[in-house]
Amino acid sequence: MKIYTKIMEIGSFIKDEKILREAERVEQIYPFRCTDYYLSLVEEFSSSDPIFRQIFPSFSELDEGEEDPFGEDGSTEHPCLIRRYKDRLLVLSTNQCFVHCRFCTRKRKWRDAPFVFEDFGALERYLKKHPEIQDVLISGGDPFWLPASWFDELLKVVGKIGSVRIVRIGTRSPVVAPEAVEDKLKVLSRHAPVWINTHFNHPKEITGESRKALLSLIKSGCPVNNQSVLLKGINDSYEVLKELLISLLSTGVRPYYLFSCDPVRGTAHFRVPVERGLSLIKRLRKELSGMAVPHFAVDTPHGKRILP
Ligand SMILES: *Cc1c(COP(=O)(O)O)cnc(C)c1O
Repeated sequence: MKIYTKIMEIGSFIKDEKILREAERVEQIYPFRCTDYYLSLVEEFSSSDPIFRQIFPSFSELDEGEEDPFGEDGSTEHPCLIRRYKDRLLVLSTNQCFVHCRFCTRKRKWRDAPFVFEDFGALERYLKKHPEIQDVLISGGDPFWLPASWFDELLKVVGKIGSVRIVRIGTRSPVVAPEAVEDKLKVLSRHAPVWINTHFNHPKEITGESRKALLSLIKSGCPVNNQSVLLKGINDSYEVLKELLISLLSTGVRPYYLFSCDPVRGTAHFRVPVERGLSLIKRLRKELSGMAVPHFAVDTPHGKRILP
């Protein structure tokens, strides 16, 4: 797998000089990053392409706004342990990802030095001190960036805590780096069931490779759910969402959430009015099986709000 980290490396694909220079300025602030696999899904190197639009820097990212509107930073005694619910703990495994999604809710962390959470002792102490936590979510960054041995250690620690009953991993790897799934399967199957939440936003992302990765996770004892973000110019249409949701189900993946794009600095150009999201969900609910329709959720400093 190759990961491009400079716009210059993919410059030859982009014919419009202005778009290219704009991206090279924006990447100074919010760095570019994409796998060769995900880049190969781009059909047209312009913002009308749903894959291009998710990965390519644009001037709109330099707009004003809050970087951490939900006050995630500083919510527990450890910077990698995030607690917004009594019964759930989110572990920031790393700040590294295979791809920088331009609408990322934690894009403030792209500039930080690369880190990996390895303070398993602190995690164990925290979980022992808080037996009300039943559900541990491993997020990031993309946890599948880390080697299988990291999961083995973490899942062993969590597995020893009797009060923890559910473990989930949030990863976009089946979408952007399906080859990174393979080496995790053995460890995950040993700790099954481990719930996987992945992140498909557009039907074009469901390819032979991504299907294969999803099926191998399911066969290893990992139920897979999907969390999408409603994104302007990418999936804010009934037809696109319908195709996405049905394709997911046909691959064994249950649509879980459709998030309204968070009000994070540098993502305003992706936001769809909540009323529009509500009317899309209403129509989906009317016309599709209940299996296919995710919760429409808006994040707030007090937690997720499901609408209507
Ligand atoms: C989203 C989130 C969770 C999980 O919420 P669910 O609605 O149970 O999926 C847990 N902790 C934090 C900090 C979150 O942002």
